[in-house]
Amino acid sequence: METELQLESNFAEQLAGLYSEWQAAPVPNPKLLLLNEGLAAQLGLSVAALRSDGAALFSGQRLASGSRPVAQAYAGHQFGVFNPQLGDGRALLLGEIRDPQGKLWDLHLKGSGRTPFSRGGDGKAALGPMLREYVIGEALHALGIPSTRALGVVATGETVQREQPLPGAILARVASSHLRVGTFQFVAVREQEDLLRRLADYAIARHYPELAELCGGERYLAFVDAVMQRQARLIAQWMGVGFIHGVMNTDNMSIAGESIDFGPCAFLDAYDPGTVFSSIDQNGRYAYGEQPRIGQWNLVRLAECLVPLVADDVDQAIARLTETLQRFPQLYQQAWREVFARKLGIPDVRAEDGALMEDFLLLLDQEHADFTLAFRSLAADLQDMDPAQRERLGIPAIPESWASWRARWHARLGDARPAGAVAAAMDAVNPLYIPRNHQVEITLAAASQSNDSRLLEKLLTVLADPYTARLEYLPYSEPMPGSFGPYRTFC
Ligand code: AMP
Ligand code: MG
Ligand code: MG
Repeated sequence: METELQLESNFAEQLAGLYSEWQAAPVPNPKLLLLNEGLAAQLGLSVAALRSDGAALFSGQRLASGSRPVAQAYAGHQFGVFNPQLGDGRALLLGEIRDPQGKLWDLHLKGSGRTPFSRGGDGKAALGPMLREYVIGEALHALGIPSTRALGVVATGETVQREQPLPGAILARVASSHLRVGTFQFVAVREQEDLLRRLADYAIARHYPELAELCGGERYLAFVDAVMQRQARLIAQWMGVGFIHGVMNTDNMSIAGESIDFGPCAFLDAYDPGTVFSSIDQNGRYAYGEQPRIGQWNLVRLAECLVPLVADDVDQAIARLTETLQRFPQLYQQAWREVFARKLGIPDVRAEDGALMEDFLLLLDQEHADFTLAFRSLAADLQDMDPAQRERLGIPAIPESWASWRARWHARLGDARPAGAVAAAMDAVNPLYIPRNHQVEITLAAASQSNDSRLLEKLLTVLADPYTARLEYLPYSEPMPGSFGPYRTFC
């Protein structure tokens, strides 16, 4: 049967030297487990066609017209250690979808078998982690945070050997692109200046077209600046919802400014900037509170790659790039203050508000208060929500110890707007429902071990509207019970 999925192959056509043409491995029994109908519709794809052909298309067993699948090459710093050759070891770029607005989106498979970049790996993915990526990507999207998103998940019918045998799966993922800091590192370390220029121009045309008219080195300097601005905003948004990416290696940082490759990610429960969930992050390099610093470190790695394009004189190029990168802390602070001002109902953020925000976080840290619920508690308190109703929604009362901070906050809010309007504005940006670690675990276990996807569908429904309080969603607002922890994530 015909499918309406049509792909372009711009990356393959324009960036020879950055990939190997490759095919997905055969799989015994592909079954479409999840189809993201909302995303399909947004991309202008026929849901009915994907329902019938998704298993074959999203397992790479059948190619859509126009598809020229490639395994992309990239390098990267993994936990600070440079590896000159990583690349898609278990993934393929099938091609690009052009949406009804004319914007290009990568369609990419993860778990589609070994490639020339697999090194020791088996090229496969287990079902649990692919469902996890689906859930988290949708949660971030609903929270207004740029993220790659899953279009579908296919069970392969294979068993994948990890610490124990697990059901195999392939994730079909949509991204603004899969250009990474590590893509630039791959070219820069090989000193391929012509390819570097083509890569940078491709990235600019695709993600920052307004820069294309700049000439010479100015274009590439502005490119670094533009990536930096998107990353500053993205990381500030992560901080605002307590998102911990978990593995911010340079190969997992997108040039487009989307959240990508958040394998062992998790959301904060009790506020503590030192929080780490990933089992492989033993030194806390990618802890919640380290994310802005690591973001800047990764951007410096990107800037290093662009030195040859910025100026013929190396010292001059480094000076200009350094000057640009030095603005990161200030840009990030500003983005962070804007995020937290909205969380506190402050419409006209000022630099001095930083202290009010930081003092609130200090209180949360001292009391191990739940980060997500704390902001809903403030809004409930502000509008004098009926305590019985508040409890039925799972929102705690604010403790006595917040009284003097609350007085400062009220003074800052003034009486320009009625309390009800401020509380409503806060509730519109502070989620009540996030992917709680225990809920995600319970849900993924049911879906991947017992083939029961009812909880998964429920969780996706809840996370699709994280702000509207609903009595029947009570279990999803509750923090992880003490009996569940300590929580660890694996990729
Ligand atoms: P990640 O930690 O998922 O961002 O992956 C880091 C690198 O390891 C990338 O080059 C992946 O393609 C590669 N990789 C991860 N898992 C596998 C696997 N099962 N088989 C082959 N390569 C893998
Ligand atoms: Mg990766
Ligand atoms: Mg602490």
